[in-house]
Amino acid sequence: MTQANLYNALRAGFPADLQAIAIETDDGLAYSWSDLERGSAMLANWIDSLQLPAASRMAVQVEKSVEVLMLYLASLRTGHIFLPLNPAYQIAEVAYFLANAEPAVVVCAPQQFCAVSKIAFQSGTQYVVTLDDQRGGSLLQRAAHHSDQHTPVHRQADDIAAIIYTSGTTGRSKGAMLSHGNLLSNAQVLHGYWGWRSSDVLIHALPMFHVHGLFVAIHGALLSGSRMLWHKRFDPVRVLNDLPRATVMMGVPTFYTRLLALPGLSPSACASMRLFISGSAPMLVDTFEQWKARTGHTVLERYGMSETVMLTSNPYAPDDRYAGASQRIGGSVGFALPGVQVRIMSEDGKPALPSEVGSIQVKGPIVFAGYWRMPEKNAQEFTADGYFVTGDMGTLDEKGYVRIVGRSKDLIISGGLNVYPAEIEDALNNLPGVAESAVVGVPHPDFGEVGFAFVLSKPGAQLEPEQLLAALKSQLANFKLPKHCQVLNELPRNAMGKVQKTVLRDMAQNSEAGHSWLLGSGSKLEPDPNNRVFPFKKRQGQVPV
Ligand code: AMP
Repeated sequence: MTQANLYNALRAGFPADLQAIAIETDDGLAYSWSDLERGSAMLANWIDSLQLPAASRMAVQVEKSVEVLMLYLASLRTGHIFLPLNPAYQIAEVAYFLANAEPAVVVCAPQQFCAVSKIAFQSGTQYVVTLDDQRGGSLLQRAAHHSDQHTPVHRQADDIAAIIYTSGTTGRSKGAMLSHGNLLSNAQVLHGYWGWRSSDVLIHALPMFHVHGLFVAIHGALLSGSRMLWHKRFDPVRVLNDLPRATVMMGVPTFYTRLLALPGLSPSACASMRLFISGSAPMLVDTFEQWKARTGHTVLERYGMSETVMLTSNPYAPDDRYAGASQRIGGSVGFALPGVQVRIMSEDGKPALPSEVGSIQVKGPIVFAGYWRMPEKNAQEFTADGYFVTGDMGTLDEKGYVRIVGRSKDLIISGGLNVYPAEIEDALNNLPGVAESAVVGVPHPDFGEVGFAFVLSKPGAQLEPEQLLAALKSQLANFKLPKHCQVLNELPRNAMGKVQKTVLRDMAQNSEAGHSWLLGSGSKLEPDPNNRVFPFKKRQGQVPV
């Protein structure tokens, strides 16, 4: 049996000098490669001592720390299933995940032990241990008694390594099961495609409960033996200070817009950088252009999801051999990665014509093993010929560039005609004074659905909804025009910076019920307890009730 444990592949990327620094944290700590190896071995030995059934789940809801990374590596080494959860989730949300996943082990923050252990034990969990972001808690105390030598168990490529609950901008979260083989194949492809090298220094300011920070960033650095500059959370000033020591940064678009707001962002601040990568949410072309103008760097945008890790990327190398194209294009998420088949299917079930909008579907070694305990969803979301239906709508041009135009659920059908919110958003974003926009569909007695536009103004701009709608008239067919528009001070976003269209849909419908909403202006988004504004804030009070 071939050993396909992902840990072994990552470990093979560590440099020969294990005493070299692997991670520098923003609170002044340095971890060597040997620390990662030994710390994860001690944790793995503790897990082994619990004698859990094979493929047990380990749910982890804690603040970001290097020790969580070690715990993830320990989970791989022992062959169990890592299940990271956003620390911003409230206890009722955690209860859903624990009941659904039935983890054998739960790791939580010390101050949440009482609340979490109560629900965990109800879900059949045997062990609840704690970990804080200062190396406190019972987990490390227990691991400290164990040996720092550990041999990873044998795993096959299709054994599950992690379950990532989809971030749930729509509907209830589903647990995407990713195998050792899925994760390794994606890490290896990106290693080559993005030109990772051991001299790279990665700014890691992403959270660890999501594919972007946990897999794309961490696997890339470990597999290449590259150092990480570890930021507990994204703070633009701290990231700017670290740029002169770094070569690669991965971020969501919000990182880029917040860095652009700093006067110190300049070509000289980015002199050592070779690659800025963006993903998880669409980057506005305006941000892409501004970044180029301010830093001299062209952001590389890529596209991925919990179910597939990364599936497309703009090219890294100027002499890119894929599709004979050489440019990173703003507004495009690039080409299907090597070994990945991406197709766009039109509504009639046939391959879409070049640049025709259709459903984005994907096949290849990166595609997950299905949703945890949801066979009906698996049946719905895979085609008969084995493609995963991403739920995103997009186009593929003659050169092979993919563009995302929205989620299929975002589609507005107005008077029987399809309206893609992204097209309206593009038009709105190009109007003077508009920073960003989000368009959702609301029920309409005559047309079935009509568009409702939410608009964020640029600092100092005074926007009038009527004027915005009037300006769109000359650019868009009548049936595409949103019938309502509201200017907001901020857009609701989830932890990965994605605009939460479900929240906007509720707002639109509630405003409708409250009648005075038509063409209202300057309203303030009320704080919503469930709205996890990005970047996630340190919570006050900590213990959710
Ligand atoms: P998640 O599973 O939380 O990673 O969310 C995946 C979804 O994020 C995808 O299905 C897309 O809708 C969206 N997404 C990821 N990357 C991009 C991107 N570069 N541009 C636009 N949308 C993206």
